[in-house]
Formats: sequence, C-alpha cells, structure tokens
Amino acid sequence: MTRRKVLQSLLTAGIWAGFKGRAFAAQTASMKDVEALQRNWKALLAEGAKVPSPSEPLKLSKDEWRRRLDPMQFNVLREEGTERPGTSPLNNEKRPGVFVCAGCNLPVFTSEMKYESGTGWPSFFTTIPGAFETSTDYKLIWPRTEYHCIRCGGHHGHVFDDGPPPTGKRWCNNGVALKFIPKSGKA
Ligand SMILES: [Zn+2]
Repeated sequence: MTRRKVLQSLLTAGIWAGFKGRAFAAQTASMKDVEALQRNWKALLAEGAKVPSPSEPLKLSKDEWRRRLDPMQFNVLREEGTERPGTSPLNNEKRPGVFVCAGCNLPVFTSEMKYESGTGWPSFFTTIPGAFETSTDYKLIWPRTEYHCIRCGGHHGHVFDDGPPPTGKRWCNNGVALKFIPKSGKA
C-alpha cells in the first residue's frame, strides 16, 4: 500500500467512525428526549385540570356507554369503528396540552408526542406511559396491532412501525376517541 493510500484509508475510517459516533449519539439523545416527554407529561396538563389515573378502572354497560357518548364516539370507542380520515378537528390541533380518552378522560398523549403523518388521523410517536393496552386484530387481511384505553377499554386506533425516529412508531388515533385539554386558555 502506498503512503497515500494508507493515509486515504485512515482518513476514510476516521470520518466513518466519527459519523457513526455522531449518528449514535443523536439517536441516544432523542430516545432520552422521548423518555423525558413520557416522564414529564404532567408539565402540559392545564393547572387545576382533574384527570383520573389508570388504576381507577371505569366499567359501564353498553347502554350506559350509549348514553354517555355521541354516536360517532360510541362507534369508534365501543365497536372498534374507524372515523373517515381528515374529519377530525384535532388533526390541526397544535397548541400545548394533553389529549385524554373521550370515554373516561384518562390522559393518553401530550401535544409534544404528536406529529403530522399525512394520513388524515391524529398521529403520535409515543404515548403517556401505561395509558394503553394492545391486542392483535384480523379485521383486514393482515394482522394489525389494535390499542385501547387501559382505564375504560375504549378502542382508540392501531399502532404501526412506520413512524418517525427514534421510536419508529405511529400511533394512529381516531380523533373522536380523544378530547384535548389545552395547557392554557379554553378547550
Ligand atoms: Zn378511556
């Protein structure tokens, strides 16, 4: 190997190692950021807002749910329906705040977990810890991961693996299954 080639390969290796190091550091930092978003979600809760905790289950009969929810909410939350894409006003909700389950008010996402997926449904790359349970559904030909509120069992949406880094997750949520509590100002 000529001196020039040695120099060249050292240089390339050096740049590559540096690049990998930076990429790795960036990713570690953003996973830490995501964990911080999860840990500190209450910072986005409006002052004085009363919300339940996941450990207080809410069990109601089908008739009680029908009285409590409007027909669209009932269809999505209690019958695993799907709203038409692009119909939820929450698609464009960009204020700081907390998204709660429309069935039982359990906090499930914050505004900092939301991103624009272009699908027409409110989309999130992570959730408030412990808010949801998942199951597999076979309503379409391929299996999908359905998720529902841990407190009231209400269906919210499906989670996919095509979300943005670092989580790679897309929590695709029906807007009618959510209510938004802005950090300040009126809902
Ligand atoms: Zn709920």
